Amino acid sequence: MFAAAVAAERHIPCVVIERKARLGSKVLMTANGRCNFAKDISPDEFLRDLGEGSCADFVAEAVRECPPRQICRGFQSLGVRTKRMTDGRFFPADEKAATIVHAFGDLLRDEEVPIISNCAVTAIKPLKNGFLVSTKNFTLWAENVLIATGGVSYPKTGSVGDGQNFAKSLGHSIVPYRPGLIGLETRDPKVTRLAGRRFEDGTTKVLDAAGKTIFEYCGEIDCESFGLSGAAIYNAQRFIEHYERERGTGVAVEALFNGMTVRVEKINPRPLKEAIVTLGGVDTREIDPHTMQSKIVPGLYFAGEVMDIDGPTGGYNLTLAFATARKAVASIAKKEKTP
Ligand SMILES: Cc1cc2nc3c(=O)[nH]c(=O)nc-3n(C[C@H](O)[C@H](O)[C@H](O)COP(=O)(O)OP(=O)(O)OC[C@H]3O[C@@H](n4cnc5c(N)ncnc54)[C@H](O)[C@@H]3O)c2cc1C
Repeated sequence: MFAAAVAAERHIPCVVIERKARLGSKVLMTANGRCNFAKDISPDEFLRDLGEGSCADFVAEAVRECPPRQICRGFQSLGVRTKRMTDGRFFPADEKAATIVHAFGDLLRDEEVPIISNCAVTAIKPLKNGFLVSTKNFTLWAENVLIATGGVSYPKTGSVGDGQNFAKSLGHSIVPYRPGLIGLETRDPKVTRLAGRRFEDGTTKVLDAAGKTIFEYCGEIDCESFGLSGAAIYNAQRFIEHYERERGTGVAVEALFNGMTVRVEKINPRPLKEAIVTLGGVDTREIDPHTMQSKIVPGLYFAGEVMDIDGPTGGYNLTLAFATARKAVASIAKKEKTP
């Protein structure tokens, strides 16, 4: 949606093909239907918060050209009233994700961008001069293709991994999927007897094998029948996934809430289909960070969670999707101008 909006602004003819009957099914779910679309921080703070072993280097240029505050101003210019929480997170003022989806819908309608919904792309075939994009009912030719098909969590929203499969069939490597920003399972009775309770001022600490604190986050902790969830748990879980992949060594987690400490020794995240974000996806080493264009197939571009990019909770993932979409379309626009 964001890519199509930028294309319209730059007068690049485009068509949006969407698997689901309506646009933005996952966006409608964000922040419990409230849509935390960005955060009031500078690009440098944003990139720092992505953390060690993250996609920060790859997305740096895209984020600097589409800073989180500019995303907020962009929505305001579309008539969306916005709200800033004390911690800097931006939401639509009515805290309705539908407001954001409608803003895109209205813009694409006004700009007469064709949207083919209820229609899954089934194959992308490169030609000498462009691509054939196939669906069950028709095939169309496109000079450039931008794959923005999302990760693989919450597949009912339409993100089922098609984009990664297309990329793979065109020679791209796929970094194995892991769940990101997800709850941790524990049978600790201190947790299970509090199932259903939320603690706003919790803290999580991740300790390395030597007992040194290597990550700390203050925020919400929720007790669930399966274990622990909430922003403080999600961000600790994401940190661990990146840390263990980088270093190959294990950790333990401590959750401090309700005046007690719960130690989770064995890290068992909930299943990938429930994850807020998918870690893994199209390997960014095969994508040019200055253009979001495939280094393998010229004319093929990527944006958002289909790539191996992810951020913590707080609007970082939508900002990443928007910034990379803008970068891809700006590159296509530049190419169009160069004879
Ligand atoms: C419960 C939940 C809460 C979240 N809350 C937040 C939040 O508050 N803030 C935040 O920043 N992030 C949040 N996220 C993460 C954020 O929603 C995603 O990172 C973001 O939506 C990714 O955008 P995307 O455009 O890459 O993919 P998506 O939003 O998943 O969009 C991909 C689209 O591609 C379509 N598609 C897939 N395959 C095909 C095909 N073959 N043909 C045609 N169309 C296809 C899908 O139907 C889908 O509409 C949340 C995620 C979840 C699950």
